[in-house]
Amino acid sequence: MSTKKGFTLIELLVVIAIIALLLAILMPALSKAKSIAQEILCKSNMHQYYLATELYANENDDRFPPAWRSLYRTTSSGCTWHDESQSPDVLPSNAGPYWPYISNKKLNVCPTLATFARKFGTNHPGHNSSIPIVPQFSYSMNGFITGTDSKGVKRSQINSSPSETFLWSEENMWKMKDADGTTILSNYVLNDNALVVRFFIDATDPIDSFASFHKVSKAKFSGQLPETPDGYGVYNTGSANALLLDGSNIVVTPQDSHRYMGRSTEQIDWR
Ligand SMILES: [Zn+2]
Ligand SMILES: [Zn+2]
Repeated sequence: MSTKKGFTLIELLVVIAIIALLLAILMPALSKAKSIAQEILCKSNMHQYYLATELYANENDDRFPPAWRSLYRTTSSGCTWHDESQSPDVLPSNAGPYWPYISNKKLNVCPTLATFARKFGTNHPGHNSSIPIVPQFSYSMNGFITGTDSKGVKRSQINSSPSETFLWSEENMWKMKDADGTTILSNYVLNDNALVVRFFIDATDPIDSFASFHKVSKAKFSGQLPETPDGYGVYNTGSANALLLDGSNIVVTPQDSHRYMGRSTEQIDWR
C-alpha cells in the first residue's frame, strides 16, 4: 500500500479557489477601511490648519495669513503642488506664514489625493513632464476672506458667519464641468494655496471650486479625468473636506463652493 503524501491537484485547486473567493469577499471591505482611514487623516490635517491659523492670528494682530502666500510664498506654475524643488524644505525662501506651524509634508498632502496623484498626477493643465509627481501640498485657503497684501485681513473684518465660511479646503488638480457637460465648475485648479470661488459671469469665467476626489471609487477615478478635447474632466459624485472658521470640519461638493466662500470688508472685488 502506497503512502500518500501532499495534495492532489484537485485538492490544491479547491484550496486556491477558496482563497480567491475569500479575497474577493474581503477586498471591498479592506479598500473601504483604507478610504475611511484616509478620510480621517485628511480631517485631522485640516484641524492642524485650524490650530496653525489660531497661533498665527494670536501672534499677528488677529490677522489671517494672506491666502496666496500662505504656505508657499510663490507658486511658479500649476506643477508647484508636486514640485519638490519649490518646497521650503529645499528652498527656505519660499516659506509662507503658515510654514513654521505646518511644515510637515504629511500634514500638507491629503492621502486621498496622494493615492490619486500616483496614478493620474500628470493629468492637469500645463503639466511640465520634466517635474516628477511628488505631492507637496493639496490644501487651499479661502481667497475671499483675505487680502493679497503681505498682512492679510483681521478676523474682525470677516462679515460672514464663522459656521458658514470656509478657511481651508481641497481643490482638484484637474478642470471640471458639471454633469450637464457645459457649465464650468472649476477651471483654475490646484495651482497655488488660494481657492477663489468666483461668481459665474459666463462659461469661460475662471473659477476655483471644492474638490471631488473623496468618496469616489477607483473605477470612477478614470471617469473624472480630463478626457474631453478641451481638457475638462467630467463631473463625478465625489466630495472634499472643508475646514470652517469656527474650527469644524464639513464634507462639501463642488456645487457647495459659493455657499461657503464668505465675505470680508477688505477683500478684492473679484467681480
Ligand atoms: Zn482630503
Ligand atoms: Zn504638473
